[in-house]
Amino acid sequence: NPNKMFEYRMMEYGQDQLLLIARDVSRVSHLEEMRKDFVANVSHELKTPLTVINGYLEVLESTTTDSPPIVGKALSEMGSQTKRMQVLIEDLLILSRIESSSDRIFENVVDMQAMLRQVEIEANALNKIKKHSIKFTIDNDLRVYGVEPELRSACSNLLFNAIHYTPRGGSIEVKFKRKAGGAYFAVIDNGDGIEDKHLRRLTERFYRVDKGRSRTTGGSGLGLSIVKHVLNHHNARLEISSTVGKGSKFSFLLPNELIGDDWEDL
Ligand code: ADP
Repeated sequence: NPNKMFEYRMMEYGQDQLLLIARDVSRVSHLEEMRKDFVANVSHELKTPLTVINGYLEVLESTTTDSPPIVGKALSEMGSQTKRMQVLIEDLLILSRIESSSDRIFENVVDMQAMLRQVEIEANALNKIKKHSIKFTIDNDLRVYGVEPELRSACSNLLFNAIHYTPRGGSIEVKFKRKAGGAYFAVIDNGDGIEDKHLRRLTERFYRVDKGRSRTTGGSGLGLSIVKHVLNHHNARLEISSTVGKGSKFSFLLPNELIGDDWEDL
């Protein structure tokens, strides 16, 4: 039946027999599809009204020069909350795009060096207030099979988090290098660090260690969830190690590295 979906498990049964267990997961997978569609549609539908609200707020901000100060303050707060909502919706859309992505990773080659240079430019702009020292060590000519916008989003989320969650004037290191088994990416910071008990849940949607404080930093709470989905898609896994008060390391190994001669043959 083409509408049915099964999950199979094979187990040893007695000494020389195997037991095959098939579980009908059609309903679960149908509900999961409905959930994905729903999130994607709602996010998409929310985009237009928000753009309109934002547009009118800008008009109001530029025409209320003689109003009492509270009006200006209210408009500016409304503006920043609207922008927060836009970031959230954008992240929800990215997440649902990745979840239903049918882009095949073996069909595209990503020049990681060029991509990371772009991420560096954005990071430097974001770093203007925090003034961290950010050091990039990137191997030359390291290309991987993958989907460029997804990998870019994963790397920039990790780096932007390091910038956000490290107190002013910290040190951040970004590494991308050839290693046994693939191409290794890491972001290391000497920031706040994260307690062990949170580590397992960090990649859940909307999970935040310190809800109040994270909210003021402006993220959507979806960043690490996006990273996890991108890495799943690229057969990689996010590794996190962290010590409170000392800092954190977020890293992954992309197994589908492509180097030197392979590249020339393409
Ligand atoms: P957001 O940053 O938008 O809150 P994320 O999914 O990117 O959402 O991160 C989830 C939580 O993980 C953050 O709220 C923060 O508490 C914690 N976190 C992420 N990166 C770091 C880091 N480099 N140092 C300390 N805490 C971090």
